[in-house]
Amino acid sequence: MSRKEQPSVLLVEDEPAQREVLSYNLEAEGFRVAQAENGDEALLLVEEETPDIIVLDWMLPAVSGIEVCRRLKTSPETRSIPIIMLSARSEEVDRVRGLETGADDYVVKPYSVIELMARVRAQLRRVRPSTVGQQLVYDDILLDAESHRVFRDEQALKLGPTEFRLLATFMEKPGRVWSREQLLDRVWGRDIYVDTRTVDVHIGRLRKALCQHGGNDPVRTVRGAGYSLG
Ligand code: CA
Repeated sequence: MSRKEQPSVLLVEDEPAQREVLSYNLEAEGFRVAQAENGDEALLLVEEETPDIIVLDWMLPAVSGIEVCRRLKTSPETRSIPIIMLSARSEEVDRVRGLETGADDYVVKPYSVIELMARVRAQLRRVRPSTVGQQLVYDDILLDAESHRVFRDEQALKLGPTEFRLLATFMEKPGRVWSREQLLDRVWGRDIYVDTRTVDVHIGRLRKALCQHGGNDPVRTVRGAGYSLG
């Protein structure tokens, strides 16, 4: 893929660790990634690079994400670039405010990286329809990240949101052993406190969900280490 064909994303996030994780994942998805750590830098980079899509943190020093969003959405040159806002605020009123400012989508922290990637692809598909969505396949299990649906042996499975994120994490790297702490980071996000026993509870639910129409339990318990798929 040439540089020009490769979709580009501008990532605006002031926390280096979060920026690194997201940038790594976006690059793995085939994006060209430009990074900005504050609002001013973001506005400058948009002018220079005209990204296909912008992932924008709400809480930024100086010029806030909301303000960046408002400015980009009121300018005719940048209005059509999709913006996904990231926010630790989960109240409905903030969500509405975010969308009113013109954001195209809104993701509440802690989010799963897989979910965010699906949202990015969904927005990208509007502006660059040639980009197709992602499906993960393992054995007879199929997970469609965009429609949020899971099938086993072609039968739809009922799955809670946490079980969905757990399964998506497993299906990204079948055979990889995940410790409970790693699963907590990945599925629940490191910003909130959850007991590691919660992981066991949801693994139990996932196992049950995967076998709701029969079939073997594909989740393996690795004693002293954690869990893996297959
Ligand atoms: Ca921030």
